[in-house]
Amino acid sequence: MKNICLLGSTGYIGINSLKVIKANTVRYRIVALGAGKNIELLLNQIKEFRPRFAAVINADLADELKSKLNNMRNTEILYGTEGYVEIATLSDVSTTIAAMTGSSGLLPTFSAIAAGKDVALANKEALVIAGSLLTNESRKRNTNIFPIDSEHSAIQQSIQGHRREDLKRIILTGSGGPFKDLSIERLSAVTPEEALKHPNWRMGRKISIDSATLMNKGMEAIEAKWLFDVEMDQIEILLHPQSIIHSMVEYMDGSIIAQLASPDMRIPISYALSYPRHLKGEPASLDLLEIGTLSFEKPDRKRFRCLDLALTAGKIGESMPAVLNGANEIAVNAFLEGKIGFLEIPQIIEKTMERHDTVPINSIDQAIETDRWAKSWAKELLEKMVGK
Ligand code: MG
Repeated sequence: MKNICLLGSTGYIGINSLKVIKANTVRYRIVALGAGKNIELLLNQIKEFRPRFAAVINADLADELKSKLNNMRNTEILYGTEGYVEIATLSDVSTTIAAMTGSSGLLPTFSAIAAGKDVALANKEALVIAGSLLTNESRKRNTNIFPIDSEHSAIQQSIQGHRREDLKRIILTGSGGPFKDLSIERLSAVTPEEALKHPNWRMGRKISIDSATLMNKGMEAIEAKWLFDVEMDQIEILLHPQSIIHSMVEYMDGSIIAQLASPDMRIPISYALSYPRHLKGEPASLDLLEIGTLSFEKPDRKRFRCLDLALTAGKIGESMPAVLNGANEIAVNAFLEGKIGFLEIPQIIEKTMERHDTVPINSIDQAIETDRWAKSWAKELLEKMVGK
């Protein structure tokens, strides 16, 4: 029996994690749930999974939740970052699913690793901000970071049974998002609603925008660098509009191993929890005859500047990816709120990166401070942009 803390339980990955857990209650038990503001859904999840702990974003929501739970006093309610850290590090938790969005998940994720937990990681921003800290801590504590990201799950499956020194490169695939074929002129006028409609995957709001800008793919390259200990130059990005091959690994002799599956997040979630086993799940078998064709294209780093900026930040390394991430969070939010256009997202990120003098990130406090710095600069740039 694996005791699980699920951070981000009301988001898209959280909801699907609970589906995987519910389908295998012999193996998995929910000990704690962490959510943000969606009290109604959390309430239903508490009633169904009966966790010992739950955490929400602030004290007011914690009080509201407590009053709604009045006759179910078996679940203790905590709140804020401290609350998330507490549930992620509970002594009887063996695996923490880190599925919060953005930099808010960094400290709880790091704390879980430092407390010796295995982490099933969907919160890729945590690795982008502080990849060296997280992976070093994981090595030190002898814990595992299992990716809940279809590409990295594919890579992890493709390196099983192979020798590390034989690996030549990683081929990271991506659909190209909803705007793959749009001209610069069209891109300048796309709306948040259009950006939220991904052709193959259903996802949360932040990652949907990151997928549309291809920032998500660039961040995934940084994520792969840390998870699989490769250089940025060893990672090639290939667009694959069908989203059937989820990534590939090439070996020294020219062999390429790929993983194929339906675009269904329950598959990588299940593998992250059951590694190295492939347990029976609910997703349907892949019908390759129906799919018929698999095609590949080169990504356009000029039209999709966020991809270029992310790959550049990944190569510069140290604190630059954290700055990229912080500025991106501000810019994506502004786009979602209708304050800026789609093509202004990379402008804010690039200008913030230009302002930054890179330093090594040696502590979690420093990572958090860098994130704050990037966000405040990006906000300032945003105000100038919106005000003009
Ligand atoms: Mg992905």
